[in-house]
Amino acid sequence: MADFKTHIQVASLISGSAAGTLAWAELVSLPESGLLWLAGSLGGIMPDIDADTSRSMRIIFRLFATLATSLVLLYGRQYLSLPDTVLLGLVSYFGVRYPLSWGFARLTVHRGSLHSLLANLVFAGIGVTISYRLFELSPELAWWVGIFIFFGAVIHLLLDEMYSIDLEGRRLKSSFGTAFKVMQWPALLPNLALLGVLALCLWTGPSLTSLQLVLQQLWPVSYI
Ligand SMILES: [Zn+2]
Repeated sequence: MADFKTHIQVASLISGSAAGTLAWAELVSLPESGLLWLAGSLGGIMPDIDADTSRSMRIIFRLFATLATSLVLLYGRQYLSLPDTVLLGLVSYFGVRYPLSWGFARLTVHRGSLHSLLANLVFAGIGVTISYRLFELSPELAWWVGIFIFFGAVIHLLLDEMYSIDLEGRRLKSSFGTAFKVMQWPALLPNLALLGVLALCLWTGPSLTSLQLVLQQLWPVSYI
C-alpha cells in the first residue's frame, strides 16, 4: 500500500497537470484550475478516510470541521451576536472533528466499501453537491470539481494496487486485488447506503445536462 506522501504527491502532480491543461485550453479560468487542482489532490487521499489513525483521515476531518465552522460563522454574522457566533463556531469545529471521526472510525473497516470505485463516485457526488449548493459554483464548475475528485481517488486505488506488487521478489503481496475494486462484495448494506447517497447527490446536485456539456468540452482537449 502506498503511503500518504506518495498518494498526495502523485495525485497533486497529475491533477495539477490536468487542471493546468484545462486552463491552457481556456475551459476554466486560472483560479478555477487552482480549485480543481485541490479537488484532485483531495480525491487522492479520500479512499483512506477509513484508515482509522491515518493522516488522510485527520486531514479530511479537519477539513470537514473547518467547512462546518465557516458555514456557522457566515450564518452567525447575519443572525447572532459575536460571542454567540464564536461559541457556536467552536462547538461546530470540535463537534465535527472528534465525535464524527470517532463514529466514522467505529463504523468503517479499512479497505472495505470506501476503498472502491462506487465510493469514489460518492466522494465525487458529495463534492459536486457541496460546490453547487453551499459554495454556489456554476453547474459546470461543480461537475469539474467532481470529475477531479473522482480521478484523484481512482489514482489512489491504482497506486495502492501497484504497491502490492513486490518488484524485488517479483511476486504479489497478499493485499493484491483488495485495493482496486468496483465495489466491496459481499457487503449489501454498505453498498446500498453508498448507492443511496449517490442518488441523493444526483437529486440535489446540478442538472445532468450541464454534466453532458462538460463532457462534450473534454473532446477537443483530447485531440490537442
Ligand atoms: Zn488506500
